[in-house]
Amino acid sequence: MRDKLRRGYQVHKEVTRNGYFEGDIALSELARLGELLHPGEGEQEERKIAVEFEFVRNEYDIPMITGQLQTSLELECQRCLKPLDMPLQLDFQLMIDADDDLLRDSSVDTIYSDDGFIDIFDVVEDELILATPLVALHEDSSCNEHWQASAEEPEATAKENPFAVLQQLKTTD
Ligand SMILES: [Zn+2]
Repeated sequence: MRDKLRRGYQVHKEVTRNGYFEGDIALSELARLGELLHPGEGEQEERKIAVEFEFVRNEYDIPMITGQLQTSLELECQRCLKPLDMPLQLDFQLMIDADDDLLRDSSVDTIYSDDGFIDIFDVVEDELILATPLVALHEDSSCNEHWQASAEEPEATAKENPFAVLQQLKTTD
């Protein structure tokens, strides 16, 4: 049975009852993530993140949360500074309070509870921040003609420079 998603959970209790939760988080609740989004559009406030996850134990008897989230973020294209829609759907699987030995042997990350409690908003926000590209760009590389003319050329000539230097060495040798 799925319960309605809320913010905080007592890990031991939820793992014991195999708690399963489902619901939406408003993007406006996630302030750190907000700094990565396109600043202009007021529509941003109404966006939501659909989340579902459950508490389980892994083979080492460590509590885990496993679930998925789905949303669409509005980023700022670094070429034209206009909004760029990025649909995101990702699965997450995290141990809770796993010790260092276990972390070394496992490919699964851990989160640390706050005295036995976790905040799913923080977990979802961290996952989304990790999934957001540092530099977002429209697929169409001509979204800003001015950028093509001014910013791309210096990069191209900089790349050619080492060869030019080599050529010079060869001819003067
Ligand atoms: Zn663009």
